[in-house]
Amino acid sequence: MTRAVDAQRHASRVAELLRKAYPEAQCALVHRSPLELLVATILSAQCTDQRVNLVTPALFKKYRSAAAFAASPPGVLEKEIQSTGFFNAKAKSIRACCRQLAEDHGGQVPRELDTLVKLPGVGRKTANVVLGTAYGIASGVVVDTHVARLSYRLGLTKHKDPVKIEQDLMALLPATEWVDFSHRLIHHGRQICIARKPKCEVCPLLAECPQHGVVLTAGGNKPGRAKGSQAATRSKAAATKPRSAAAKGALAAARNGAPKKSAQSSAAKAKVKPKPQTRSARP
Ligand code: SF4
Repeated sequence: MTRAVDAQRHASRVAELLRKAYPEAQCALVHRSPLELLVATILSAQCTDQRVNLVTPALFKKYRSAAAFAASPPGVLEKEIQSTGFFNAKAKSIRACCRQLAEDHGGQVPRELDTLVKLPGVGRKTANVVLGTAYGIASGVVVDTHVARLSYRLGLTKHKDPVKIEQDLMALLPATEWVDFSHRLIHHGRQICIARKPKCEVCPLLAECPQHGVVLTAGGNKPGRAKGSQAATRSKAAATKPRSAAAKGALAAARNGAPKKSAQSSAAKAKVKPKPQTRSARP
């Protein structure tokens, strides 16, 4: 069996577990049309979907077409979207993008990736979100901060660059999986595989996850860093320090996926706080 086939099987098993865990996962941005989704996705940059969903109802009630967004007076749209952050840049992108939609596309959002990414403020991620969610077209895999983090932890990529991560995921999964896979991964990143403290002990993907870059400790899991970084170097140094037999046992239990409680109690008995140990660095 080749390494590529192994990687595809691993990705397929991850996709299956995600499907079971989040059968109904969908885009969290509230919208009623491709245009509304496009605007909401532009607003979601560096902002939570919940925050965007607080802002968009009034916005979509007021601006009902691409031409209306394009004609919004300077300073007004900025104020209306201020709470989403980076409001000057976002207002500029929305106006320019909607102007082009109104002038060149009859006010409609195009269905082609190549056309979409030529619109001001629309990158590949935004285009994939709009095509996949609004039109059901699998143009690629949406790689946001959750998808990037989880793809690395799950051993689906060794890259940190969204473009390279998307290429890896597209090579590992059939196109029919691309849209739902990213929705499910985003849900999983919000609920279980949280950036600062992944809940590996209750994760339905644990059996398939190599936990790359996750630091396992008896007191809970933490994000690690790539091999060669300061954190990885520190973790490695800590891992090589001599420890008591009980502390060693607690760490071994944590590494082997034993319940957190037993690892904690062993450490408590020894009255030694176990040092973190990196489960694995970059593959
Ligand atoms: S086992 Fe841990 S690192 Fe892997 S996906 Fe689950 S929460 Fe994330």
